[in-house]
Amino acid sequence: MGIIVQKYGGSSLADAEKIRNVARRIAARKEQGAGMVVVVSAMGKTTDQLIELANQISDQPEDREMDVLMSTGETVSSTLMVMALHGMGHDAISLSGGQAGIRTDKVHRKARILAIDPKRVYEELDKGRAVIVAGFQGLTQDADEDITTLGRGGSDTTAVALAASLKADACEIYTDVDGVYTADPRIVPEARKLDEISYEEMLELASVGAKVMHSRAVELGEVYQMPILVASSFREVTGTLIHGGVSMEQFKKVRGIAHDLDVAKVTVRGLPDRPGIAATIFEALADSHISVDTIVQNASEEKLADVTFTVSRSDLRKALSVVEEAAHKLGAREVASDDNLGKVSIVGTGMQSAPGYASRMFRTLFDKGINIEMISTSEIRITCIVREDQVKEAVKALHEAFALQTRE
Ligand code: ADP
Ligand code: ASP
Ligand code: MG
Repeated sequence: MGIIVQKYGGSSLADAEKIRNVARRIAARKEQGAGMVVVVSAMGKTTDQLIELANQISDQPEDREMDVLMSTGETVSSTLMVMALHGMGHDAISLSGGQAGIRTDKVHRKARILAIDPKRVYEELDKGRAVIVAGFQGLTQDADEDITTLGRGGSDTTAVALAASLKADACEIYTDVDGVYTADPRIVPEARKLDEISYEEMLELASVGAKVMHSRAVELGEVYQMPILVASSFREVTGTLIHGGVSMEQFKKVRGIAHDLDVAKVTVRGLPDRPGIAATIFEALADSHISVDTIVQNASEEKLADVTFTVSRSDLRKALSVVEEAAHKLGAREVASDDNLGKVSIVGTGMQSAPGYASRMFRTLFDKGINIEMISTSEIRITCIVREDQVKEAVKALHEAFALQTRE
């Protein structure tokens, strides 16, 4: 039988009993003869706690040290999982991301996987062992071999990358919900589980906040045409298959709604209105590895322009220092910021050729008295930036307006 890559998220590993539960699942599949490669996340809220601890020690902890610190969370779960398997009489070994051959670039806290050499993984599988890999981490490709992490939620990406590299028979992501829903089921109890979803739609949903999958994991799945099953680690129910085939549910034009509470906005006012200004600001941000989301530029009075863009809150401080320097050089009037924003998006491939989706979205938000601060779109997505405290209400209202709780 071939290789199966599984990944278990933090809430599925939150305590000793849950770790034993997962170990039993791994053991059962191994007994059926599969070569088991299992990626584990840090237990429960460990990563948040490590970040909180670092912030108590330092105002600006270094990114390199943060990666060493955060990677320990996954190390703990991988070793405990092996101990649980040993206790059940199964041979298993824990490997760090580096030992599993995962090499990344040097961008700490959001490193990208550059290459995987799974030699050691194969060797351990050949010995009949279940291989438990610490997720979310790798080593830089240079001689330093520094520890890096792949960005929050990055264990999903470890799993899909390993599955692709090992040409696994299956890649299964186990989490605390039954699959991918039409919206976060914790906010919309009526949300419907999808049997399947295309890479394209899942990627859009993930990149605008549906944290059930790390967006880079979906990207890799698409590139390597690796179908990804998202399912519950607690219940034996059918999950959601993310794949490249034509979706059977195409009659619904809006496939899902995603939201993100982690949005901050930066506005540069009074910029000279001439070529090269946007390039200067956004090159400076790119050089500091800050991802910029929605961007709006509008001309104001006296040939001056205002530029507004959003970043994740964790990048705000860095973004402000970079932008203030650039704004000063360019002679801008002022830089302002707001970190109480969120975004809500509707996503669906069917929307691209059908008019009326944007107007219905805006009308629904207006009816709820929700002000739209910024709007951005892709071919298959419309996103509105709104006040953070109105995001949940917006998600519920949109779910109802587009009747996502029903199949047709
Ligand atoms: P894990 O620790 O297993 O990686 P995450 O917390 O990262 O789990 O992701 C699972 C969570 O994603 C769910 O508990 C749910 O609240 C949230 N979520 C957001 N959007 C969706 C969606 N469309 N479908 C399912 N879950 C979603
Ligand atoms: N433990 C990491 C996080 O909390 C990675 C992951 O869970 O995927 O972001
Ligand atoms: Mg996750």
